[in-house]
Amino acid sequence: MLPKLFQDLLKEWHLQLERPLPWVNEKDPYKIWISEIILQQTRVVQGLPYYKRFLDNFPNVIALANATEAEVIKCWEGLGYYSRARNIHWSAKYIVKEYDGVFPSQYDEIIKLKGVGPYAAAAIASFAFSLPYAVLDGNVHRVISRIFSITTDITTSKGRKIIQDIADKLLDKENPAGFNQAIMDFGATVCLPASPLCDQCVFADHCTSYLTDTQRDFPFKKIKKPLRNRYFHLFLVKAGKHIFLSHRKEKDIWRGLYTLPFIETRDERCEFPLEGIQIGGISIDENQIQILNYTDQQLLTHQRIHLYYYQVTIETGGEKIAGDSIEMIPLTNIKEFAFPKFLLRFIADNKSLFEYN
Ligand code: SF4
Repeated sequence: MLPKLFQDLLKEWHLQLERPLPWVNEKDPYKIWISEIILQQTRVVQGLPYYKRFLDNFPNVIALANATEAEVIKCWEGLGYYSRARNIHWSAKYIVKEYDGVFPSQYDEIIKLKGVGPYAAAAIASFAFSLPYAVLDGNVHRVISRIFSITTDITTSKGRKIIQDIADKLLDKENPAGFNQAIMDFGATVCLPASPLCDQCVFADHCTSYLTDTQRDFPFKKIKKPLRNRYFHLFLVKAGKHIFLSHRKEKDIWRGLYTLPFIETRDERCEFPLEGIQIGGISIDENQIQILNYTDQQLLTHQRIHLYYYQVTIETGGEKIAGDSIEMIPLTNIKEFAFPKFLLRFIADNKSLFEYN
């Protein structure tokens, strides 16, 4: 859809909407800033009385900068996330110091204020100074991703960039404030998350997801697989000046790397006697095993690996143990092998275990 058509349809729709919120149509950057920060983690209904109270107490940047932190926090009491209040207070002092108390009017300056991210900076820049910055809140993400059927995960930076690029193209550069307010209002009242009002929608003839009945598939987010917990019990098997390493050849994690020989269990328990525990075809006797007071975890994309360590000392005959994927190597040579990170950590934390006494 061409930007001009989008702008016209949006403007036409917005003209018939009532706008009851006090900060809508506000041009004072200070008031817009306060409202944006309050609404960052607070719902509109809850934030409204705080907004009014805050402005009664601190009607402008200078009044806020002159207040003590305790006074600002007191006024914020009940809103939670008090770092927002501290950031606002810090920024008010910064504006007084750097800009003589006049709110900065450029996007690059506004975004330097503590607690102001791209969304709030675009809102202040466009609403207060009519600068051509497209505001992207959750509502705008939803509207754009549905109309254009964006199939890239919007939680990724690539997905966000695609939406931002489209929003920048659609933005009415002559009236960025009106456009931004309208598209946010549209998302909040028509293109609703669970039940979009498509039969009343001015974009219905152009909305690609509506035309294919896939509105509810957008905004697209990849379903994250739940983390799978896996429990590995690793055996530091020493035979004199040698230890045993397992070369990972299976199609599984750490493929191609070397680890200590290990077994995997269904949970953290590794009941002794360790039935069926063999290294290179030789059963390990319970008496040979010493539990090491060392555990670790490794977080992979879809797996959390829990690691438990044991030491096994074999007097002689080590060469018999080495088999297909198990190799017996001199302790002095372990630096030549490629290990997963967790094992490098174990070696670094337990140097004495890798020395020959
Ligand atoms: S047609 Fe439906 S899904 Fe598409 S923009 Fe309108 S309300 Fe949203």
